[in-house]
Amino acid sequence: MLKKLVLFDIDGTLLSVSKINRSVLVDALTEVYGTAGSAPTHNFCGKMDSVIIYEVLQSAGLGEGEITEKFGRVKACYIELFRQTAQASDVRLMVGIRELLQELSGHSEVLLALLTGNFEASGRHKLLLPEINHYFPFGAFADDAPSRNELPAVAVEKARQLTGKTFVNHDIIIIGDTEHDIACARVLNAKSIAVATGNFSTQELKKHHPHVLYENLGRTDVVLSEILHSSIN
Ligand SMILES: [Mg+2]
Repeated sequence: MLKKLVLFDIDGTLLSVSKINRSVLVDALTEVYGTAGSAPTHNFCGKMDSVIIYEVLQSAGLGEGEITEKFGRVKACYIELFRQTAQASDVRLMVGIRELLQELSGHSEVLLALLTGNFEASGRHKLLLPEINHYFPFGAFADDAPSRNELPAVAVEKARQLTGKTFVNHDIIIIGDTEHDIACARVLNAKSIAVATGNFSTQELKKHHPHVLYENLGRTDVVLSEILHSSIN
């Protein structure tokens, strides 16, 4: 019987993508808006792709209306360029991820899904390259809501539509590498597992009070036990 909804962030948590991620966005923005704004140096960590596009263009003086007008075009351009450009060699899986996904997918109490700031099409492409996409039947993406804090509810609703079960509180587990992943878990009183495989150390993540904090997800047995035995506390 299903008991746990486990939601994985992508970048910095499941995998890392070489700098082509940024360069493709710079190219798409330049093609559509004539400027990439602050995209070459902007902090992308834990942010929605949609939010990043607005932030980098607003820093170049573009108005919200102007950005919105061409948003569909830049999104399509970025996704197309990313699919054309990204190769398997651009993606590195974090330590232990393949083993952890393999293990979790064998447990009938666990429903795996994604909770990520990526657009679905580019996020799925990142997972296809190292062949882990099939582990995730659905997800909550940047296409689904304007802010990450709204994504847990989206994921819970998609889980309900798929399985008939409504997951609540610590039966929802959100695994991510930034303070934003920890914050969005709080919205639904979900359990947050923070992992320091992205750009933030365990000391930095600790300040944001995740329920559980790991250097990496390499200890499959420890992570599995934490997921299967999580309860309200
Ligand atoms: Mg991340």
